[in-house]
Amino acid sequence: MSAALFRIGTGPRATSGLVPIRMREIGGEVLLTNPWGDWVFVKPDELALLSSGQLDPASELFSRLAGRNFIRDKVDAAALGDRVARKKSFMDAGPNLHILIATLRCNQTCVYCHASRADMSATSTDMTPETADKVVDFIFESTSPRLTIEFQGGEPLANFPVIQRVIETARKKNESAGKTLEFSLVSNLSLLDDAKLDYLIDERVQICTSVDGPQALHDKQRILPGGSAHQQAVYWIKRINERYQQKGLDPVLYHVEALLTTTREALEHPREIVDAYVDLGCRAIFLRPVDPFGFAAQTGKTIEYERRAFLDYYRTALDRILELNRQGVQVLERFAAIFLTKILGDDDPNYLDIRSPCGAGIGQLAYNYDGQIFTCDEGRMVHQMGDSFFALGNIGDVRYREVMLSDTVRAMAVASNLDAQPDCVNCTYNPYCGVCPVHNYATQGSIFGRMRESSLCAVHKGIQDHLFELLRRNEPSTVETLRRWTTIRERTHFIQGSSAE
Ligand code: SF4
Ligand code: SF4
Repeated sequence: MSAALFRIGTGPRATSGLVPIRMREIGGEVLLTNPWGDWVFVKPDELALLSSGQLDPASELFSRLAGRNFIRDKVDAAALGDRVARKKSFMDAGPNLHILIATLRCNQTCVYCHASRADMSATSTDMTPETADKVVDFIFESTSPRLTIEFQGGEPLANFPVIQRVIETARKKNESAGKTLEFSLVSNLSLLDDAKLDYLIDERVQICTSVDGPQALHDKQRILPGGSAHQQAVYWIKRINERYQQKGLDPVLYHVEALLTTTREALEHPREIVDAYVDLGCRAIFLRPVDPFGFAAQTGKTIEYERRAFLDYYRTALDRILELNRQGVQVLERFAAIFLTKILGDDDPNYLDIRSPCGAGIGQLAYNYDGQIFTCDEGRMVHQMGDSFFALGNIGDVRYREVMLSDTVRAMAVASNLDAQPDCVNCTYNPYCGVCPVHNYATQGSIFGRMRESSLCAVHKGIQDHLFELLRRNEPSTVETLRRWTTIRERTHFIQGSSAE
């Protein structure tokens, strides 16, 4: 740990020093963080003063450090214990996200497809109703009081009867289980029709799609034989939002969200991509780099890029998002919102891929169309590439308790614990960050990986560098916007049996 346990002051006024700290130079100043996530900027000469043990307990710097829990003698250990327990409360629950692969079939061929799709004729890759029933039974064994069942594929709408069956069976089971139950659908929307849409809205299924930016870019990357994938997506996003309003639902709460995958070509269009999202009525953009899974692993040579180029793109896009916020457009970037929620507040938004330990097994499970269970959807994608390292057994053959206590789930928790990662344990961003064992495995051959050579670490570090630089500059309208992004909104409107009735 780049930690220091400095003595402060001399003689009878000396204190026992600072709590363990980690430090990083940002914009000519030094960012200090402590293990429970407080942070403070000091000037280089102030750091020199700290290092020499000359800090006067009556000084402004001493008060600043004490106010942020950096002075050992001034720390309220019980209060800090409560804060850490609150931030890590996700550890008490059990898997709440359950990803169900309704089918591998898909009518689009995207250049980066993570799911390793199958042709529309491959009905053998549809989940059967019998398997779906067993999956629902298994999901309800989770100790989590909240359950989100997320339909994915392939294109899940290609097996709509199984979506309906799962919703109906789960709702019925929940009459006695009494959990907070939600459904979401990740779809390219091109197989939607009005009857399916009304069903999904009436069942309060949250709908999420993919948009890669302006039409030319989207259609080049997301190929819909005989048509324009972009036109289909735009048509249905507008139609769904219109239908929410026709049903009297608040557009602030009910609107389609979209996901972006950043390919090499997308790097040239950061501002256009942001504007395309805002034009579609989206209130959030997730500027995600391309993943090394599925078909993306094979097409990587043409769509991959240096992480430095990604970070340039990210900063330009974020500048545009902040500019729009200054003009009154409320739109946020999700990476920033996840990190800022932990940097500026005492909550963890429980985003499963950026937390310590990550959600593999203990926060989420993925169920393939044939009933095989995986630590997470990314683990399933590696299986589709021919390596079943992240498989946890087959539905019907394995009990919930065996899955939770399996060596694989334990290993994932250890590998994604930032205090067990050689580089992360020393990193200034340890209190806010997360690592992905599947990404490590796919790119570096080990679930532990080597963070100093990890492209994902480079992205996480670069984004947090930029966010802390914005906080250091302390420009009021920017800080006000960044703070607004940390509001965690309860999605009660999507909970089954609440507003749906
Ligand atoms: S292994 Fe990676 S993808 Fe899977 S839950 Fe952990 S962070 Fe997410
Ligand atoms: S993943 Fe990288 S940025 Fe995040 S804590 Fe580890 S070393 Fe730091």
